Amino acid sequence: MRLLVVEDDKDINRQLVAALEQAGYAVDSAFDGEDGWFLGDTEPYDAIILDIGLPKKDGLSVLESWRKAGRKTPVLLLTARGSWSDKVHGFDAGADDYVPKPFHMEEVLARIRALVRRAAGHASSELVCGPLRLDTRSSRVSVDGNPIRLTSHEYRLLAYMMHHTGRVVSRSELVEHIYDQDFDRDSNTVEVFVGRLRKKLGVDVIQTVRGLGYLIAVPGVPPSGGLAGR
Ligand code: CA
Repeated sequence: MRLLVVEDDKDINRQLVAALEQAGYAVDSAFDGEDGWFLGDTEPYDAIILDIGLPKKDGLSVLESWRKAGRKTPVLLLTARGSWSDKVHGFDAGADDYVPKPFHMEEVLARIRALVRRAAGHASSELVCGPLRLDTRSSRVSVDGNPIRLTSHEYRLLAYMMHHTGRVVSRSELVEHIYDQDFDRDSNTVEVFVGRLRKKLGVDVIQTVRGLGYLIAVPGVPPSGGLAGR
């Protein structure tokens, strides 16, 4: 799962990025509305945290531009405390949720988890597929109740696949959702991560679909092909 933080306050931006990375996300950041708008318009984020008060282009205008262009990425707005008009205008502009400043980091993390899983069609914060469980609150993975230790990239890859079970996910889609912008991307490493995950999980959950990518099948449900969900 890959996120974007658009916030001009350097300290808040840095704290958000650190906490989100700690929670297992790949995170890009922007410090003004123009850069933020551009990234959100061109990169396939799983969710975006957007401050309203931004230099160059304010947050509500950024959000309206994305929505006008058909970008459906879930957006969590950072609003001024007590400003009901921020909230009303924010929802009207296409926001999915908001957190007033100053905020508790735990609340931001919980709201982002909820936005990401709802966008992928999941109601529960624990994702289950047969013996495999992934708890998005603790970033923990277990098989038959036994905890599995994963590196951050392995976790991100598995979390993305678990959010999109029943659908074939291409290698390039995985690359776009598990690395941040500055990471030196090499799509071959996706195969390496999948190989390590299979070994660590010890169960045959990740299938290779030749020429298309990977699939975690839902028992009893035929997979949907295609490369939707960007
Ligand atoms: Ca601001």
